[in-house]
Amino acid sequence: MHDSRTRPSVLILGGGFAGLSCASRLSSRRFAVCLVDQKPHFEFLPNIHEILSGVKSTADVQLNLAQQMSALGHDFTQAAIQSIAPDTKEVQLHNGTVLGYDYLVIALGAVDARYGVEGIDTNAFSFKSAQQCDAISHQLNELALSSQSSRVTIVGAGITGVEALGEMLRQGKPSNLQITMLEARDRLLPQSSAGLDTYIRSLCEHYPVEFRCNETVDRIRKKSVLLRSGESLRSDLTIWTGGPSPSPLLAQAGLAEPSAWAPVDDYLHSAHADDVFIAGDSADVPGNVAKQAYHAIDMGEAVAHNLQALVRGSRMMRYRPSPKPQLISFGGIGCIMVAGKWAAAAPALSAGKEVVFEVAMAQLDSQSAPEKVSELVRRGKRASRKLLLPTVMSPTALLRQKDFQLLGPND
Ligand SMILES: Cc1cc2nc3c(=O)[nH]c(=O)nc-3n(C[C@H](O)[C@H](O)[C@H](O)COP(=O)(O)OP(=O)(O)OC[C@H]3O[C@@H](n4cnc5c(N)ncnc54)[C@H](O)[C@@H]3O)c2cc1C
Repeated sequence: MHDSRTRPSVLILGGGFAGLSCASRLSSRRFAVCLVDQKPHFEFLPNIHEILSGVKSTADVQLNLAQQMSALGHDFTQAAIQSIAPDTKEVQLHNGTVLGYDYLVIALGAVDARYGVEGIDTNAFSFKSAQQCDAISHQLNELALSSQSSRVTIVGAGITGVEALGEMLRQGKPSNLQITMLEARDRLLPQSSAGLDTYIRSLCEHYPVEFRCNETVDRIRKKSVLLRSGESLRSDLTIWTGGPSPSPLLAQAGLAEPSAWAPVDDYLHSAHADDVFIAGDSADVPGNVAKQAYHAIDMGEAVAHNLQALVRGSRMMRYRPSPKPQLISFGGIGCIMVAGKWAAAAPALSAGKEVVFEVAMAQLDSQSAPEKVSELVRRGKRASRKLLLPTVMSPTALLRQKDFQLLGPND
């Protein structure tokens, strides 16, 4: 048994990549840790698009936070956070509970960027959780079964929108679905080189997909999308992938300017409050680090290291982002690897994305070996049957592997 009075208390807000990796590096012998999240599960967001085609189930991309914290000897509270008061060192939950702390770790990720567009909550599906992807999948199945032709609109041609589109095409040509992708900027995957835009368009040549760039959405209605130009597009299902935006809790707590990420120093310590660390998407790290899962994991680990250094009186570690290649999958048809300024494409690269997923899930899972192995085997079986065999190892897939392309440097 540990004596909670002699251990400093660490309150971690958010059980995503940053929060979970931080918690898993803190020893319950040294710290009384409590992790709070509104959801019962950690979710591996980079692979949730695979729920659309049934390649993954919601359970495949989740880890139960209560079980994870219990395996680590930490506490878990499932509740939405209402407000953070660094002055009094208190966090108010929506259920009325107030939690105090010695050290606070804020790992709240991001919310959907909305750009003032009306009707997203009521008339569109957002793409930020396994549950939302499951709901979209059901809706797509219903539309596919209908005798009438249906129109699906994906708003946003960033990585999330493009991966969602690819997943819709994984099962082949949808017989009665017409898909429109809208993008406010001048090309698909606007953060990357024009070669990626050309590649995605070439993959979609024989599919009922229309791309419309330089189009700004003004409002989403129940069965239509209204563009700023005044044109109204019929849409039976609208999916919103507007990118990440800071949680309003950061500014409310005085840790950030309104609508801004929370600034931190090199040690991920808040620029505005003592004893507060910020990790993952929420942190505005010096040097403009991309909002990516692998950075969030590294930041969570760095914060855990620095908390231990603080209580031991040893040196804290500077967080230095370590860039890694990024994989953008496109159903079973293609996959892009972006490494620095360069990008290459081949369907077989999607096997790499699956390996990254399996390894990262196993590393983040703190359960004891038998439970961890049985989860790994369950996920692995499904991935081999639904993803690796058809995408990489079937005769048609093997023929497609000759389609390796270098997509050129980013602008
Ligand atoms: C669809 C999608 C695809 C992506 N693809 C990739 C990819 O291919 N590669 C890549 O590297 N990155 C990808 N990302 C980005 C990556 O997922 C994020 O950078 C990463 O999740 C950030 O980790 P985090 O811990 O900061 O936040 P998250 O993982 O988002 O965790 C934040 C946690 O805080 C909780 N939370 C938030 N607000 C509250 C509140 N008020 N009360 C209680 N709990 C709250 C949330 O429930 C969540 O569990 C993708 C993101 C999305 C949405």
